[in-house]
Amino acid sequence: MILASRNPHKVREFGEIEGLPEIEPLPEVVELPPEDAATFAGNALGKARAAWEATGEEAIADDSGLVVDGLDGAPGVLSARFAGEGATDAENLELLIESLESVPIGSRTARYVCALAHVASDGAEQVVEGLCEGILITEPRGSGGFGYDPIFVPSDTGPSDDRTMAELSSSEKHAISHRGRAARLLAERLSGS
Ligand code: IMP
Repeated sequence: MILASRNPHKVREFGEIEGLPEIEPLPEVVELPPEDAATFAGNALGKARAAWEATGEEAIADDSGLVVDGLDGAPGVLSARFAGEGATDAENLELLIESLESVPIGSRTARYVCALAHVASDGAEQVVEGLCEGILITEPRGSGGFGYDPIFVPSDTGPSDDRTMAELSSSEKHAISHRGRAARLLAERLSGS
């Protein structure tokens, strides 16, 4: 199954999540479409479809991001380019921290969203979604994960655990993450259970 992504963090994380069929890298020749849909699902499907059309092989793709309540849902589908086209994770993180200054603490609730699209070798399409709820802090902690993880404190670890997503082990992250949840849901659907 081809993973239609050029994001090395996602390729690593999907490879670590158990239950999915073995992931193959996206062939260099495949051109992915621009992520200009208004929804995570639309963008994910566009990428998976492009990989299937170019190779004829079963393909998956995710589109993911962080939705912040106190910022009217931003950065949302623009998470990868919040600080501009080609922005680094560090630049996006810095802009989010700055943006949070004007958000009351009680509105710093947020969720990671992952839409995971699958196109079967016969062209049949489906999209599943995984969510991970949490709150945002403004002093980054931890070196695991990627993106906004150093300021995202997931709710699923419990009220007495204030570690950020970047302070969890990979397996702890995958057990509760939006990507882990979407991947397990897709694996269940594919195995017919
Ligand atoms: P995409 O490549 O368009 O799906 O953009 C994904 C972006 O959302 C990443 O560049 C990160 O900014 C953010 N993001 C998605 N998943 C995660 C995660 O697990 N941790 C931290 N940031 C994430």
